Amino acid sequence: MAFPDIVPELKKRLPNLRGRLLANQPLGEFTWFRVGGPAQALLMPEDENDLAYVLGNLPNDIPVTVIGAGSNLIVRDGGVAGVVIRLGRGFNGIGTDEKQRVTTGTAVLDVMVARAAQKAGIAGLAFLSGIPGTIGGALRMNGGAYGGETKDILVEARGVDRAGNMRTFSNADMGFSYRHCSVADDVIFTTAVFQGKAGDADAIAAEMEAIKQKREASQPRNRTGGSTFKNPPGKNAWKVIDEAGCRGLKVGDAQVSELHCNFLINLGKASAADIETLGETVRARVKANSGIELEWEIKRIGIERAL
Ligand SMILES: Cc1cc2nc3c(=O)[nH]c(=O)nc-3n(C[C@H](O)[C@H](O)[C@H](O)COP(=O)(O)OP(=O)(O)OC[C@H]3O[C@@H](n4cnc5c(N)ncnc54)[C@H](O)[C@@H]3O)c2cc1C
Repeated sequence: MAFPDIVPELKKRLPNLRGRLLANQPLGEFTWFRVGGPAQALLMPEDENDLAYVLGNLPNDIPVTVIGAGSNLIVRDGGVAGVVIRLGRGFNGIGTDEKQRVTTGTAVLDVMVARAAQKAGIAGLAFLSGIPGTIGGALRMNGGAYGGETKDILVEARGVDRAGNMRTFSNADMGFSYRHCSVADDVIFTTAVFQGKAGDADAIAAEMEAIKQKREASQPRNRTGGSTFKNPPGKNAWKVIDEAGCRGLKVGDAQVSELHCNFLINLGKASAADIETLGETVRARVKANSGIELEWEIKRIGIERAL
């Protein structure tokens, strides 16, 4: 399906836009699941000022959605109406200082931040090496692994709101909780400052290698969205899913991973609807088996394909 082309009209309203704006761009290739329809308009702003210019001048009735590396995302088959923003080159800066701080653009992959910290002998950020998203996604999701969470290391983040205002958020302002950040959904994060501590580069490298080995042994790393559901209080999601008999369950070409049953995988030709239906089937079976209502950790965006 294709959306009506709004790009010519938007370009008229945004004469000073420097970034790229393209109509009906497929989004599946930007996601780990490799599924989903197009963005009505895909914007790749040149830098933070360009982003603020767009958001400040875009008509209010145009919805705006930001995506990172698409590692926690199901884009529905009908695509995403309005403007989808993907940050690129202008948000890729990364630097470290002698106070063990790491300042990074939000398009940078978490693993690159972990590597930069390791090279500078900054400890405390190694956990990021196991999360396959961008820093923007880590801020929005309070990404965490192996005992570390984004909230433990963030000093402050900067972002642009839907009105085009640049705003700074302290760690407390972020309102972090388990895989959640309370900053208004319309804020697009642009930079983050993390605080580590002095460490030994070789020891940090060994810690990152151990994380890699553990992940490779226990998780699928292809066409998945990572943990599908949040762990219910005091329980492991994978366990209640397993107990409900869902390991290996399939809908079309979507399957509950045999290796880690809180991961859904696209075996090749799954649609977004197959994956979402599988997730909902798992939720229903878990509810029937244990009374537990699983909450999606994966974000689902866009519209279902018209029948
Ligand atoms: C194999 C695998 C393993 C994983 N393991 C872990 C793990 O151990 N721990 C963990 O926490 N997660 C894990 N995940 C999930 C995922 O990697 C994280 O949630 C990650 O932080 C998402 O980042 P992203 O850039 O891919 O965001 P996306 O998936 O693109 O988007 C996720 C959300 O973040 C928002 N977002 C993205 N960029 C910005 C921005 N600049 N400003 C504001 N909002 C933004 C999006 O709008 C969306 O709501 C795993 C995923 C996979 C596929």
